Amino acid sequence: MLSFSDYLDAVPKVELHLHIAGAIRPETLDELAVVNGLRLPKRAEELYRFTSFYDFLDALRLAALALATPQDFRRAAHECIEDLHRHGGVRHAEIFFNPHYHAPNGIAYPEMVDGLIEGLEAAERDFGVSSRLIACIDRSVCLPSEALQMLDWMAAHPRDRVVGIGLDGAERAGPPLLWAEAWRQAGRAGLRRTAHVCEDNQALFEAPPAHFSHCRDALGCDRLDHGYNILADPAVVARAVREGVHFTAASWSGLPGNRAPRRQRIRAMFEAGLDISLCTDDPAIFGTTMGHGWRTVFADLGWGVAEARRLSLAGLRASWLPEARKAVLEAGFVAMLDALEAELDPGDRAVDLAVTRR
Ligand SMILES: [Zn+2]
Repeated sequence: MLSFSDYLDAVPKVELHLHIAGAIRPETLDELAVVNGLRLPKRAEELYRFTSFYDFLDALRLAALALATPQDFRRAAHECIEDLHRHGGVRHAEIFFNPHYHAPNGIAYPEMVDGLIEGLEAAERDFGVSSRLIACIDRSVCLPSEALQMLDWMAAHPRDRVVGIGLDGAERAGPPLLWAEAWRQAGRAGLRRTAHVCEDNQALFEAPPAHFSHCRDALGCDRLDHGYNILADPAVVARAVREGVHFTAASWSGLPGNRAPRRQRIRAMFEAGLDISLCTDDPAIFGTTMGHGWRTVFADLGWGVAEARRLSLAGLRASWLPEARKAVLEAGFVAMLDALEAELDPGDRAVDLAVTRR
């Protein structure tokens, strides 16, 4: 018999919203900082404790600077996939990396991408987890011209694993319409497009529901990251449901005071019929894993196997894998879900909320 916690950890999942700079294990960050001569103001475990969204963004950008050679990128990617595999049953991951974060180290785009790909290929062999990369722009520190520069880098060094672009950072510093030209060009280049939008650590006037429409109509986004603030406008929610737009929700907020409210927003999105998956966002910095994020949401919201099945398959269908590959994976997911449900102890709904990272 399978306990409910073990069942939740084993449900097959897809990770669609994870930043590589936020997924560096604390001990790896400490070690690489020494090797690469990066002066951290405190040890990683301390650095990963912050009280505001803006302090978090500073910690994330600092952690990114620890990656200075292709081997560092290889290691970060491999360890990231290992953690997703061991702690939450992830079968496929689509991972953001911000080329401009690493430029101060003097590492060029081809070196960082090929380092990441080497790590991902090794992890696919070691753990059976497939993956793709999404090049990302931090709207708080980059200009629209730098988004165009990133597209040039991508065009000069095309790789099958790099399938799209994303937009992260603080929404109030770079509303969606600023990026319309770059996102249009990315669409013409055949890249998939997403953006962080309507994030709940931004006030409603900074990240209003109208940004949803800007991301769809002007940026041509295929899916969106976060999205909680659209709940303030029923017309936007209705449009998102009608169009089947997928939102990659982060199950465990980096800000302790936002964790319970975030879970209620996830419930509201789910119950409104929005298409969502549960993701980790910055698992090492936030001190979470895919399994831990799922367990905390399911414990708090009283969810069961029906919700697990819907989330599992929604994440897979929203991935940017080729349709034929998704169809094969979906048959496997359904078979795994059937087998897990058959093994589940029907009387057990207790959830272990511990974070098991290593
Ligand atoms: Zn994010």
